[in-house]
Amino acid sequence: MSHTSDGPHVIIIGAGLGGLAMAIKLKRMGFTNFTVVEKASEVGGTWRDNVYPGCSSDSFIHFYSLSTDLNPNWAHSLAFQPEIQEYVLQVALKNDLYSNIIFNRKVISAQWDMRTQRYDIITEERNGTLVPMTAAILVSAIGLLEVPKFPEVPGISRFRGETFHSARWDTLVSLTGKRVAVIGSGPSATQFVPIISEDPTVNVTQYCRSRSWILAPARVEYSTIQKWLLRHVPFYLKAFRWFCFIWAENLYFAIFGNHSMNQVVEQQVKAYMMEATPAEYIDQVIPVDPNHKVGCKRVIFDTNYLASLARPNMSLVWDPIESITEDGSGAFDVIIYGTGYVVDNYPINIKGIDQSVAEYYRDHGGPTAYLGTTLPGFPNFFTICGANTATGYTSLVFAEEVQVQYIAQMIKPVISGDILSAEVTAEATDAYNRDIQNRLSGFIWSKCYSWYRTGNTGKIHGLFPGSMILFWWWLRRPNWAHYKVVTVSGWEPRRSVYRTLGAVILGCLGVGSVAYFGWT
Ligand SMILES: Cc1cc2nc3c(=O)[nH]c(=O)nc-3n(C[C@H](O)[C@H](O)[C@H](O)COP(=O)(O)OP(=O)(O)OC[C@H]3O[C@@H](n4cnc5c(N)ncnc54)[C@H](O)[C@@H]3O)c2cc1C
Repeated sequence: MSHTSDGPHVIIIGAGLGGLAMAIKLKRMGFTNFTVVEKASEVGGTWRDNVYPGCSSDSFIHFYSLSTDLNPNWAHSLAFQPEIQEYVLQVALKNDLYSNIIFNRKVISAQWDMRTQRYDIITEERNGTLVPMTAAILVSAIGLLEVPKFPEVPGISRFRGETFHSARWDTLVSLTGKRVAVIGSGPSATQFVPIISEDPTVNVTQYCRSRSWILAPARVEYSTIQKWLLRHVPFYLKAFRWFCFIWAENLYFAIFGNHSMNQVVEQQVKAYMMEATPAEYIDQVIPVDPNHKVGCKRVIFDTNYLASLARPNMSLVWDPIESITEDGSGAFDVIIYGTGYVVDNYPINIKGIDQSVAEYYRDHGGPTAYLGTTLPGFPNFFTICGANTATGYTSLVFAEEVQVQYIAQMIKPVISGDILSAEVTAEATDAYNRDIQNRLSGFIWSKCYSWYRTGNTGKIHGLFPGSMILFWWWLRRPNWAHYKVVTVSGWEPRRSVYRTLGAVILGCLGVGSVAYFGWT
């Protein structure tokens, strides 16, 4: 693929796993005229920022890693943050990506110019200098759980003690001998609370709003033999990755695919929680709302959280926080927010033909996209980890790689100069969203409170309504009939006999798997 300095330029916003996956794909296509713009000073995204004690993946790491860069040396099945961050650094080095990344540069805004068929982009350096850039193709890889969210409690900024969000853990603050208020009880808090409360001088009061289903621990340490086999036995590493994929897909079918199976899983999780929770907390932590099924929120594997509640320096408070005073009502030295992320809106002012992404989302009841990847009115703009692409049970990196394959097919004719732009039609987007919202209405998520929904109770914008096999199937190839294309010279998408044959074979395999694993 040709590359000239004035040929189409691709800008990828964000150097997390999603942005790097896109960059690797472009390089493998032989295309190097791209720039990754990253506001921080290193790659890694989630795994660079979340340095709280005990931070780890909750997906099996052999599947929660890039298919292009398998790693036989993972220490645990659910990897800890330092190891994942090290992996991301190695991926960037190995694929020689650093020369394509601009660090400490934040994308502030972008505007599609119909005449030039380019995005005019404004970026900002750390010192406030604004730097304009242009790109024919703009790929947003800004993640989903990136902007820390704080609760709307009066007086939150008045507190004069140490305070930080779990996603921006202040490693300079020692908790020893301190009275610590933890606000929130989601996945991050359940990971760091048992670690910080290990020190008996740290007095932890955890403010909880909602209960979570907590599954039995899933972390195992890989033995030396297992790692040796993964390193040396041909195909074993790939086969093991497939095993992790299938295991997670089974989790999907057990939790979401079938109401009776969900009941069985719930009984098992309840039995585990009854056994692991100290008696005085059983009535407080086990969910009782019949609409709050296992899987309503992202699956949490126990990391010794339930047992840690028995520690004398741990207590839970379920009353809502009315306000925060300067001295934390004389009760706290440190407040740690484990209150999640802003996920309802799009944080960059990207304007397409006639509106911004944020306005488009607002007009559609929250984040909305076609296949989670393209938006009508935004030619040549792609969202990795866009609306309705998360899963709640398996690796988001898989969904992102599926999107990357799709985007690569979409941008190939732009890069080769056959077309100038492609824009998904509003009709295709609306039909797609009617379909997925109709499917989602039958899932357990439609009855419970979670960040998967706009304002926690509105439209489900976070999740894909099906297994990842279906997601892959839908995104395996673009349907060009759903796109308006500005061509240079009467370009037509190529149809390959082999591709059609391949699709039929894969279709049969997909139907076979569905028949084998069951559907609803
Ligand atoms: C603690 C934690 C644990 C998780 N564990 C799992 C798990 O086990 N399994 C799973 O599937 N998912 C998990 N997730 C979700 C996780 O966020 C995604 O799996 C994955 O990291 C997303 O990668 P990403 O590259 O899309 O986004 P991110 O990792 O969020 O990276 C986005 C990047 O974009 C950059 N950026 C944002 N805005 C701008 C801007 N305006 N200009 C320039 N750069 C910008 C950010 O600095 C960041 O580097 C977890 C999330 C958290 C917070």
